[in-house]
Amino acid sequence: MDIPVALKSVEAVPSLDGLQRPLRELRMSVIDRCNFRCTYCMPADSLQGRGVFLPLEKLLTDHEIVDVVHAFTRLGVHKLRITGGEPLIRPGLPALIEQLSAIGELDDIALTTNGVMLPRLAEDLAAAGLSRITVSLDTLDQEVLDRLSGGKAKLGQILDGIAAAESAGFEDIKINSVVQQGINDHTILDLLEHFRGTSHRVRLIEFMDVGNSNHWRSEDVVSNADWVRRIDQRWPIAPVGAHNPSETAKRYSDRDGQGEIGVISSISQPFCGGCTRARVTADGILYTCLFGNQGTNLMPLVRHNRNREDLAGKIHEVWAARKDRYSEERGQPGHDQKKVEMYRMGG
Ligand code: SAM
Ligand code: SF4
Ligand code: SF4
Repeated sequence: MDIPVALKSVEAVPSLDGLQRPLRELRMSVIDRCNFRCTYCMPADSLQGRGVFLPLEKLLTDHEIVDVVHAFTRLGVHKLRITGGEPLIRPGLPALIEQLSAIGELDDIALTTNGVMLPRLAEDLAAAGLSRITVSLDTLDQEVLDRLSGGKAKLGQILDGIAAAESAGFEDIKINSVVQQGINDHTILDLLEHFRGTSHRVRLIEFMDVGNSNHWRSEDVVSNADWVRRIDQRWPIAPVGAHNPSETAKRYSDRDGQGEIGVISSISQPFCGGCTRARVTADGILYTCLFGNQGTNLMPLVRHNRNREDLAGKIHEVWAARKDRYSEERGQPGHDQKKVEMYRMGG
């Protein structure tokens, strides 16, 4: 395979896809296992919900993850998000973060977690150079949380996790909340109230049709436009300009200065035009869309070839051919394809 001329230079170059979108961000899944069984992600009755996961020897090693991330930085990636499954389950995650934070081209390393292991790990993650933490929390009502997490999530543990992250120096923690009609929507204003006046920002995420096992129905989605109206009635809010065009969340600040919320409207207002994100699974499969069903296995190049030029060349080739815009085409004929599950893909 020809290596693009630009890849031979030491400078990182942004790769452009088939719709002229640059490659800017990587979501790296470090494990497909999880200690929760969220109904919208890994329902207890799904294959993985019943405990079928990748064998550990199939996971990329720390060294291999560093190689993959490094290759992405050569193509324009400056932002990395570590995800899963539940990333904190991966043994030795702080040591991996430490190696990743030594990659000079990366200026932001974030982590998405369900939070319960943060009391044990937050200090080490901060010391390792992790920049930011997002904690997923859908409700403050323990009964609702039981239903949503397959009986696995304990509110007190998640709040302790957020407090531990705060004490370790993580300031503006994002709180991701997936909203489902008739399941947790009646508890959302309480959740927002809880975090008002803190430096943390709740982001309301529309329930998405990721994977094949979460029984998604469009009538279960609460449009974020509804939220903006409902929140504005309770605490008047004003839109905040985007930091960059690829930001997934639209942000609103409380007019009384007590907080900010974000809404991620992948269903009602898709944002494929600004999508600059690639995803790699814990076993090294590259996907260029969250709703993809065909990935590119990087493992042969990572584990057996170990030539970083070839690896970067392959990623460049895949990105250049990308034309994904699933959310904008949702519902059109031919778009009811089998998809990869969220906990495999890395949310
Ligand atoms: N286990 C970690 C966690 O829950 O934060 C990281 C992985 S999880 C797959 C990443 C994010 O995807 C979480 O914030 C979760 O709420 C979100 N998510 C999972 N399934 C979803 C769905 N069907 N619709 C919208 N968001 C979803
Ligand atoms: Fe686990 Fe996160 Fe999926 Fe919930 S959303 S099952 S915590 S991977
Ligand atoms: Fe990006 Fe695919 Fe989501 Fe569109 S549907 S924003 S292309 S991940």
